[in-house]
Amino acid sequence: MGERLKVLFLSSEAVPFAKTGGLADVCGSLPLALKRLGADVRLVLPFYRSVKEGNFKLRPRSMDFSVPLGGRALSIRVAEARAGRGVPVYLIDREDLYDRPNLYGDSRDDYYDNLERFAFFSHAALRVAEALHFLPDIVHCHDWQTGLVPALLKGPFKGNPVFEGTASVFTIHNIGYQGVFPAEKLLMTGLSRSDYFHPEGLEFWGKISLLKAGIVYSDAITTVSPRYAKEIQTPEYGMGMAGILKHREAFIHGILNGVDYRAWNPARDPEIPANYSATKIKGKRLCKTMLIEEMGLESALQDRPLLGIISRLDTQKGFDLLLRVLNEVLALDAGLVILGSGNEKIQKALQKTSEGYPGRMCLRIGFDEPLAHRIMAGTDIFLIPSRYEPCGLTQMYALKYGAVPLVRATGGLDDTVTPFDPQTGEGNGFKFGPYEPKAFLDTLRRAIDLFEDSRTWKRIIKNGMKADFSWDRSAQRYMELYGSVVQR
Ligand code: ADP
Repeated sequence: MGERLKVLFLSSEAVPFAKTGGLADVCGSLPLALKRLGADVRLVLPFYRSVKEGNFKLRPRSMDFSVPLGGRALSIRVAEARAGRGVPVYLIDREDLYDRPNLYGDSRDDYYDNLERFAFFSHAALRVAEALHFLPDIVHCHDWQTGLVPALLKGPFKGNPVFEGTASVFTIHNIGYQGVFPAEKLLMTGLSRSDYFHPEGLEFWGKISLLKAGIVYSDAITTVSPRYAKEIQTPEYGMGMAGILKHREAFIHGILNGVDYRAWNPARDPEIPANYSATKIKGKRLCKTMLIEEMGLESALQDRPLLGIISRLDTQKGFDLLLRVLNEVLALDAGLVILGSGNEKIQKALQKTSEGYPGRMCLRIGFDEPLAHRIMAGTDIFLIPSRYEPCGLTQMYALKYGAVPLVRATGGLDDTVTPFDPQTGEGNGFKFGPYEPKAFLDTLRRAIDLFEDSRTWKRIIKNGMKADFSWDRSAQRYMELYGSVVQR
């Protein structure tokens, strides 16, 4: 090919501009890793309020075009920023659509016009490439918010010389979010009813699903761990998409997410009270002392296991299971710190329990990145009892920070955590299978027993801190996949 591979990267969130979860970590760091491998990557994002308030260096780009939305033509502005070293980021600016307190909705409901917001974004992102004369070899889309794009490339943008020979890759970060909207809204997508609204298209039980559009019309599908790639093809985990995914099995690839160790490394992390590494672990003790103090927990916990959770408050993350065992967990002479935001019901239930354990359990509601780092550094065991987990990043961060992960064996958690075996001294964490209180508690008891044996515990921590999930290998796999679908 000779020339650099051109990748248009479309996402609804990416660090440092906007984040609700792991999608942002991935879409913030994967483009940089692809660039290091020689690709010419351009990232397109909506211009959210968080960007406006984020003090980023922005440059307005004069691009004179409008985007159709449900029979109207809306004008846009575009601002340009830089991600990391030199990946251009184009921000689609429409105040009426993106200048809101949150990305997708509040703690009760999604925004009523999410279809309009992301259909518009999908059209606009392709128009930006056109205006820049950027002829992508690959358009890489992520989750339902950009699921429309592969369909647009096969339909309204077909024959457009900019996208002649462009292949689309669609990554599923979470099959639970399917972008389902009433059929009447099809007009907003710019796709015709006769060509697209049928069971082999984006119709989903009489409605439309933008996730399904991505699955059906992309040239390759990836998901974020090998185990999850298999799971989503089963009725138990496929959430209604198993059949269609099975049908496209030959196009599905499981590529594990990587970690950006420049942001998540206790040896260099500026957010934590003391830096430490696998060979110089002493600083972790100070991090624990400071966290106990900051959270208002009993100082006696310094020598007891301190458990941590950092999570969206969502049923996916296993909070119902946690709530069923919480009293027993806290009776184990352990402490617990939870940082989370999201579902109000889960929040209230956790709050109620935490009030019964002052000094033992601390619940912080909100999205607080620096605190997330301090919790990783200050805790001994990191709990992730998810019902399902496409990849999960926090267990990989926890490994690096010597907070031993205790996870349910599902999706990427199963691919990245290996149970510690006292016989061989191998393994980096703890796992349980059945989504049941007994399995969870038994495993936690085993972990706490091993915590009492400080030599063994140090060994487990070291095994985890040595694990390397940096982007290099995964980004290489994306490059190979791009190469296999590229059409130019
Ligand atoms: P998901 O994408 O399903 O939320 P991941 O484990 O893939 O789960 O990614 C979660 C990311 O969001 C991690 O970077 C985690 O540290 C961060 N995170 C989640 N909740 C919070 C919070 N309340 N405050 C700060 N960071 C959070």
